[in-house]
Amino acid sequence: MLDVLRAVFGHSGFRAGQDEAVAAVLAGRDAAVLLPTGAGKSLCYQVPAVAAFERGRGTTIVVSPLIALMNDQVDALTGRGVAAAAIHSHQDEDDQRRVVARFLAGELALLYISPERAAMASFQRMLARVPIALLAIDEAHCLSQWGHDFRPEYLRLHELRDVVDAPVIALTATATPRVMDEIVSSLRMRAPAIVRGDFRRPNLRFEVRHLGSDAARLEAVIAACEAAGLRSRAGAGRAIVYCSTRKKTELVAAALKSAGFPAQHYHAGRTALARERAHSAFSAGRARVLVATNAFGMGIDYGDVRVIVHFQSPGSLEAYYQEAGRAGRDGDPSTCVLLFGPGDLMTQRKLAIGASTSAAVVQRTEAALAAVDRYARASSRCRQVMLCAHFTGTDDHATCASCDVCTGATDPMATGAAHVPEPAETLGADERQLVLDAVAALARPIGRVNLALALRGSRSKAVAEAALMQLPQYGALAHASQASIVATIDALIRERRLVRRGQKYPTIALPGATRERPTRDRPTRERRRSSARSEIARDLERYRRQKARELKWKAYMVFQTRVIAAIDAQRPASVDALARIAGLGPAKIARFGDDILAVVRRHATAARLI
Ligand code: ADP
Repeated sequence: MLDVLRAVFGHSGFRAGQDEAVAAVLAGRDAAVLLPTGAGKSLCYQVPAVAAFERGRGTTIVVSPLIALMNDQVDALTGRGVAAAAIHSHQDEDDQRRVVARFLAGELALLYISPERAAMASFQRMLARVPIALLAIDEAHCLSQWGHDFRPEYLRLHELRDVVDAPVIALTATATPRVMDEIVSSLRMRAPAIVRGDFRRPNLRFEVRHLGSDAARLEAVIAACEAAGLRSRAGAGRAIVYCSTRKKTELVAAALKSAGFPAQHYHAGRTALARERAHSAFSAGRARVLVATNAFGMGIDYGDVRVIVHFQSPGSLEAYYQEAGRAGRDGDPSTCVLLFGPGDLMTQRKLAIGASTSAAVVQRTEAALAAVDRYARASSRCRQVMLCAHFTGTDDHATCASCDVCTGATDPMATGAAHVPEPAETLGADERQLVLDAVAALARPIGRVNLALALRGSRSKAVAEAALMQLPQYGALAHASQASIVATIDALIRERRLVRRGQKYPTIALPGATRERPTRDRPTRERRRSSARSEIARDLERYRRQKARELKWKAYMVFQTRVIAAIDAQRPASVDALARIAGLGPAKIARFGDDILAVVRRHATAARLI
C-alpha cells in the first residue's frame, strides 16, 4: 500500500486515520471512516483500489452524490495514470457505452457512479458479471434521514451487497456517533473498523452573536467582511455568508453590494447560468463575498476563505461545522461567526418538520435544534471542544484558547440558559371550532397573531384598532397560550379549513369567503395611523423610502420605524444626540446622519416661523 501511495500518489506516508482505514480494507474488513474535510478520505479507498486492481482483484465501485465530485476525482486519477471513469447523466449515450465496455472488459481500477444508478436493477445485474474488489460509499452521511444532505437512494445501497462480495468502506466528514451507527446498520456492515479522525481546527476562531433583527445582523456581516479586508475588489481572502432562505441571500447580497463589497448570491432557485456566473466570479476572486444557501457546499474547496458568517442559525451542528469548516483550509487564521436569534430555530423547525407528523422526525429535529441551542448559548465551554465532542462523542479535546468563550468575549445577550422554544401544542376540537367561529364573525380580515391576541382577551393596540373587543369570542381562549392558538390556526390552514391570503401581511379567512375591501368611510388602520403621524416622521419615511430605492435595500435596512419614532420624539440636534437613539449605529450615522439632522432642523425652523 505504501508503494502505491508513493509511486502513484506521490505522498511519503499515510496520514492519521488513512492507515487504519487502508489496513482494515486490506484485511477484507468493512470500514466506516469519519475524517474531517481535507484529511484525505479519497486515498482511503483509492490506494486499496489501485493495489487490488494491480493484483487482478477487480474494480472498485465508488458511489458519489455529485457529478462535479466524480469528474474531479476521475480527472485527478487519470492524470496519475490510474484507469478510472464515471458513468453519469451528463454524458451522452456513446460515452456511457464506452465506459461500460471498459468496465465489462475489466479495464477499470475505479468506476464512479451515482446512488441512483447503484439502485438500478440493470446496473446491479452488470456488477454481478465483473470481479469487484471494493465498494466505496462517499459522503455516506447522505443516508441519514435526519442529516442535512439526505438522499433517499442512499438507503438502497445495501442492495449492492447482495450482488457484490467485497468489503464496503463508507466515508464522511460529518456524522454524529448516532449517524455513524445508522451508516453501519444501513449498509449492513459486518464488524466494521470505525475510524474517527481529529476534528479540531486550531486556526479557526468560533464566535456566536445573539442578534434578532436583520438590520443588526447585516451590520455584523459588514463588520466581519470589513475586518477581513474584503471591501476592495483586489486582494487575498474571501468570505461566505450562509442564509437559511433564498430570499435572504438576495437581500444580504444586495445590502453588501450597496455597502461597497464585491458580493454575489447563490441559491438553487437561480438559473444554471446565474449560479455558474456567481460561482466563477467567486472562484476568480471578482466576487469576494458569496452569500449562499446550503446549496453552495459539497465539493467546494478554497484555501483562503477567511470568514464564514451564518446569517441565521442552521438546523444542526453537523450542518454548521461542515459549512463553517470551509473557512481557513490553508491553515491561516480565519473566523466563523454564527448569528443567532430567537426565531432561527423556529424557522429550522418548520423547514425540518414541515407538515410531517412522524414522532421520530420531530424527536430527531428537536434533538438537533437543542444541540445548536446549547452551542449558541454556551458561556463556559470552549466552542471548539463542543463541536468536536458532538462528532466524536468524547469530551477529551483541548480547549482552543481563541473562541469567544475561551477569550471571555461571549455576547452578553446570551442568557446561558438553554431555551429551545417549545413546539406549541395545538388545541382540541371545541377550541378549533371556536377559532373557526371567530374567523366567520370577523368584520374584516386580520392576521393570525392578532386573532390569537383577541381570543386571549388582549388589550393590545392592534386588537383595539381592529375593534376585536366586539368579537363574540373575544377572551374565550384566555386559558390557552398565544403560541398554541397560532399553532392551531396553522393546523387549520394545513387542513384547509382556513385559508391564508396575501404575501406580506397575510390574513386568514374561511375558504370561499369573499374578500372584503376597506370602504371609504371606514379608514384602514394604515390610513388612521399615518394621519396621526407628525410631519417630521412623514418626511423621514419619505427619505427612508428614497434611500431604500437608491440603495436597493428594504426600507427597514435604512433604519427601522422605531428609529423614526424616536427621532420624532427626541428631535436630536447633533451627531451626539443621534448616537443616543437606539438602532442608529455609527455606520448608519456616518451614512444618513447629516440628512436626518437636516430634516429635524428644517422642521424646527418651520415650527419657529409658525
Ligand atoms: P477529503 O476528501 O478528506 O476532504 P481529499 O481526499 O480531497 O480530502 O484530500 C485532501 C488533500 O490532502 C489532497 O490534496 C490530497 O492530495 C492530500 N493528501 C491526502 N492524503 C495525503 C497524504 N497521506 N500525504 C500528503 N497529502 C495527502
